[in-house]
Amino acid sequence: MRNELFTLASVMSLVGCGSSTSTDMPTAYAAFYNVKSISSDSTTVTINTADLPDHKSPFYGKASASYEAYNGTNPNFSTSINLMGMISDPTLAAQDITFRIPKNPTVDAAHAATTGGAIGIAINGVVIFNQYNGVGALLNTLEFNNLDQYNGHPTPAPSLQYHYHTEPLFLTKKFGSSALLGFLLDGFPLYGPVENGTRLLSASLDKYHGHEHATAEYPNGIYHYHVTDDAPWINGGSYYGKPGTVTR
Ligand SMILES: [Zn+2]
Ligand SMILES: [Zn+2]
Repeated sequence: MRNELFTLASVMSLVGCGSSTSTDMPTAYAAFYNVKSISSDSTTVTINTADLPDHKSPFYGKASASYEAYNGTNPNFSTSINLMGMISDPTLAAQDITFRIPKNPTVDAAHAATTGGAIGIAINGVVIFNQYNGVGALLNTLEFNNLDQYNGHPTPAPSLQYHYHTEPLFLTKKFGSSALLGFLLDGFPLYGPVENGTRLLSASLDKYHGHEHATAEYPNGIYHYHVTDDAPWINGGSYYGKPGTVTR
């Protein structure tokens, strides 16, 4: 009986019955924590975050209880950020960022390009950026030398917005390398680098850095992005679906 009910629910979900007008939160969004608010209407999931990581970081600054000296593997790590020759030593700061994410994402032929700044949100409320640095070039050694032991760093003043461009190591350590890690602004989920025991590379994915099949959270299948160890790490430069909005 339980199986029959499950099958009926799956079929209803497949054909979209009942989902278009529901204000229920999609179940996958239960993964979010450490955010200020999360709500849903019939079309949009709205998430507000202070973007304060729930892990320690050298970028919290020495006066903070959340400060932790760098203890990662990069001998060239530095908290000094060099943006176009302007060198600063930022600490991260609380934000007030609101994401409005399509609740029932669909492919969008326009495939809008990602822009600088937030392109998604991790399940711990931390902002996700794309693979480009502040001057629009692919991240290089300069930026990698700023990524802390959890692969995050803040933007320079005045915004001081902490973000990930690559695998959020705190989350993959805590939840596993195959886990749901967040959502990009177009409403498609982002997963860890490992699938069925194999560590994916960008070559296994399409130009948007994803592919479609069933996942633990979406047993009927969904398009999804993966983090990989190789560039472009999270996103291929444009969205698979139509992006929602982010305001700060
Ligand atoms: Zn950055
Ligand atoms: Zn996959």
